[in-house]
Amino acid sequence: MDKYRVKPGAKVRLSKWDPDDQSEFKGDKEQGRAKVAKINDDLEALQDLLYGEHKHKVLVVLQAMDTAGKDGVIRSVFDGVNPQGVRVAAFKAPSSVELDHDYLWRVHQQAPGKGEMVIFNRSHYEDVLVVRVHNLAPKEVWSRRYEHINAFEKLLADEGTTILKFFLHIDKDEQAARLQARLDDPEKHWKFAVGDLAERKLWDQYTDAYNDAIEQTSTPWAPWYIVPANRKWYRDLVISTVLVKTLKDLKMKFPENKDDLSKVVIE
Ligand code: AMP
Ligand code: MG
Repeated sequence: MDKYRVKPGAKVRLSKWDPDDQSEFKGDKEQGRAKVAKINDDLEALQDLLYGEHKHKVLVVLQAMDTAGKDGVIRSVFDGVNPQGVRVAAFKAPSSVELDHDYLWRVHQQAPGKGEMVIFNRSHYEDVLVVRVHNLAPKEVWSRRYEHINAFEKLLADEGTTILKFFLHIDKDEQAARLQARLDDPEKHWKFAVGDLAERKLWDQYTDAYNDAIEQTSTPWAPWYIVPANRKWYRDLVISTVLVKTLKDLKMKFPENKDDLSKVVIE
């Protein structure tokens, strides 16, 4: 899945990344789903180790245009993991107290502790995305943030956090189809936000903002992956494969018991 990782310093043009790509898997949707379920068993075991070892911290950042599937990834990729060691932090428009502080203030509080895996559903990247597109801060303010973000993520990494950042890449036609599906199905009306239509009109501005954000902040310590996401099963397959590979590379071990258990007799 290395082909989806953005090399530090590489120029990013999302228009050059194919949201329909499925070249890393030889199989159809059904086989892809089965593979995701298998990888999910590995993820469960690895997350158990992460929690038991109580050493590493894992941060997964999800960013995407509306309907690209952040919620779907959380549901399917993390299906069955132990809720005791996994947490989702969703970042909405900041409250007035949050706005009174620097933009990383609320984010740092949600960073994972030892043994924990935290999924950011949106993140500090909104502060160079929606903030830029909607002019919520002047350019001289948001343009300095890439540097802060790299330094912040370096701090987390130096202190034991493994960071993975995924941009779920769909195209505008796929978004139209998904919005239409929400409109057509009364069970999905709750997911339909009329405000998303205004955001859709800003597709090109968001694309520019994502190009810059990904280009400026894909670092060795916190790489971005651009995940082809027009197909939900393939999106899930890419993310779970990268996650499991990264966790395996941590070479985690359950801690030894301090006591000599060979002498223990349970009466
Ligand atoms: P949703 O993910 O659909 O629940 O929407 C959350 C909303 O919060 C989105 O419209 C985001 O753009 C918005 N949001 C998240 N972070 C920020 C931020 N830092 N500044 C302004 N809006 C934000
Ligand atoms: Mg939404």
